[in-house]
Amino acid sequence: MLNNPLLTEEQKTRYRGFCEFVQEHVEPHADQWDKSQGVPREVIGLCSEAGFVGGIFPEEFSGGGWDAVTFGLLNEAIGAASSSLCALFTVQTMVGTILAKWGTPDQQNKYLAPMAKGDMIASFAMTEPKVGSDIQAVETTFTPRGNGYLLSGSKKWITYSAMADIFLVFGKDKEDKSMACIVPSDAPGVEVIPLKDMLGFRGAHLSRIKLNDVEIPAGDLVGKPGLVMSYVAPYGLHYGRMSTAWSSAGLLRACLETGAAYASERRAFGRPIMDHGMIRQIVTDMGVDLEAARHLCLGASMADDSHSPGAVEKTLIAKYYATRAAVRAAADTVQIMGAAGCHEENPAARYYRNAKIMEIIEGTSQVHQEILGKSFCKKFRKR
Ligand SMILES: Cc1cc2nc3c(=O)[nH]c(=O)nc-3n(C[C@H](O)[C@H](O)[C@H](O)COP(=O)(O)OP(=O)(O)OC[C@H]3O[C@@H](n4cnc5c(N)ncnc54)[C@H](O)[C@@H]3O)c2cc1C
Repeated sequence: MLNNPLLTEEQKTRYRGFCEFVQEHVEPHADQWDKSQGVPREVIGLCSEAGFVGGIFPEEFSGGGWDAVTFGLLNEAIGAASSSLCALFTVQTMVGTILAKWGTPDQQNKYLAPMAKGDMIASFAMTEPKVGSDIQAVETTFTPRGNGYLLSGSKKWITYSAMADIFLVFGKDKEDKSMACIVPSDAPGVEVIPLKDMLGFRGAHLSRIKLNDVEIPAGDLVGKPGLVMSYVAPYGLHYGRMSTAWSSAGLLRACLETGAAYASERRAFGRPIMDHGMIRQIVTDMGVDLEAARHLCLGASMADDSHSPGAVEKTLIAKYYATRAAVRAAADTVQIMGAAGCHEENPAARYYRNAKIMEIIEGTSQVHQEILGKSFCKKFRKR
């Protein structure tokens, strides 16, 4: 990243700092967090002290006021070592950016500063046992009661929810108007059931959340009822995609570094396997994919920083490309390493499991194909 002429000196300095942090506090432990299935709270404390957790939050709410490129660089650096830790920045930023844009002044004052400092962890609770990609079909219901609502339903696969202090929950009222609200994780009627043994993101504290007639004061609603799925949720998902795209680019880099290093040392048929053309071809594809993914991520974040109307589409493209490229690179790293890549004593196995998750979260690859395909067809159709 550091030789990219598009980065400013300040962005490069920050990136160096992220990489030093990763070397000291993340890389040596990432495997252990995966095996014990949980990133420890103390590590999140270290990230908070370093100003990473609320880096992109506005300065007026104790955030770092970073641009989207710097946020991306953080995700690249952390994502290269621990997808599970990086997922914290994904979800915290999704909820934080939504509150900064759509929250009331009361909500912003109450939640944003503690979130920016890492004193409060937030989860983005959209997916349900029966509803995933089709977010308009969520079944969680808001029923009017007194000055507020009763919230009922069930959310599943929610990142960091097993340790979160608040959830941003999405649902609908009886008239099918989309709604969202803040729910404290210790509110009466909330039941959190941790989910273990995921394929990847094993340290990311996923859980299922049952909402049994939870009382929601009207002041805790986020966004205007009816507009939540069209404006509020997509705003958070945009930053979730940005985070995931950069994190995948980081994972891709880790795959290339691991695979190429192994290929230079492992010998077969009298020479290092890197000197066999077919292995070199695999390394070539990984290197080209890494360069392409980085450019797409950078272009998307720069477009966001300049408030370009194309930022959303560029982020979709970056997420679609970088996640699929990470899956290819992770599979190729295992291939280069042979049996050694198939055992958990080696990070390649973890990269392989985490890469597949990237293609599923924040809109699956098929959902991206659907949106981008329609957009490209519209742009280039003759009649
Ligand atoms: C590790 C992990 C962390 C997660 N964290 C969160 C979180 O923090 N918050 C949250 O709300 N959710 C979270 N999720 C859930 C995630 O957002 C969903 O898994 C995702 O949206 C897909 O939904 P689904 O799994 O129900 O799959 P479905 O929507 O049931 O899709 C199944 C398959 O059908 C395909 N498909 C669906 N619709 C179409 C279509 N129109 N055209 C073509 N193919 C289609 C999909 O691409 C997929 O291949 C997480 C999931 C994982 C695995």
